[in-house]
Amino acid sequence: MKRFESLEEVRECGREWADMPTRIVRKIDPEEVFNLYMAAMKYVPERIKRYAESYGFPNFEQGYIVCGHGFAGRCIKQKHILIDFFTVLFTDDVYFDHVLLHELCHTVHPHHKPAFWKLLDEKLRETSVVPSDYDGWNREVTDSPHFDSETYDGYSIYESPGKVYPVSTIKRCVIRTKIFSKKPFWRYYKPIVSPDLWEKYRSLYGFAKKQRFLNGFYWIG
Ligand SMILES: [Zn+2]
Repeated sequence: MKRFESLEEVRECGREWADMPTRIVRKIDPEEVFNLYMAAMKYVPERIKRYAESYGFPNFEQGYIVCGHGFAGRCIKQKHILIDFFTVLFTDDVYFDHVLLHELCHTVHPHHKPAFWKLLDEKLRETSVVPSDYDGWNREVTDSPHFDSETYDGYSIYESPGKVYPVSTIKRCVIRTKIFSKKPFWRYYKPIVSPDLWEKYRSLYGFAKKQRFLNGFYWIG
């Protein structure tokens, strides 16, 4: 099994799986899925950290890859960021980076009020994730006389840039059950692999023996 050398390589493999018929995806070796998961665990948190350091998010502490329940990302206690495995695999570059920035903005604003969207809008430009003429604001809502920027807290005032690839629930389920538990463990699916496989990929990607995986081998402390 080859070692993925970059996040781009991981996401390239995800794009291939998105395009494959489900009957071919069924034949993928579970070890290959685990390899991809471990590579994502290495490279995605590194990218979040780079964004956090370069664009002013000092609260950020650690990123994790989870296989969750339909969310693209989640920010916990304004310092830990969870990114869904399928968001890593099945999105274009703009959508993916915008999810990382969305979660980083939650380290500053733990809500979806206009102040949060304003910061995200600013950071999307600063990082050149969107072109300078991108306008995500839904003016129909924000210009409405009923709109109250003090009390509003929700999604519909700002449009996400980029796109998510159409991948069926069945295909996602086929991939997920190759290495993750059938039922959620706490709130997320837990990778279930042999100790040998864990050891092989732990050392391949340079994780410490005591590396903490939110839904994996060690619970976040
Ligand atoms: Zn959010």
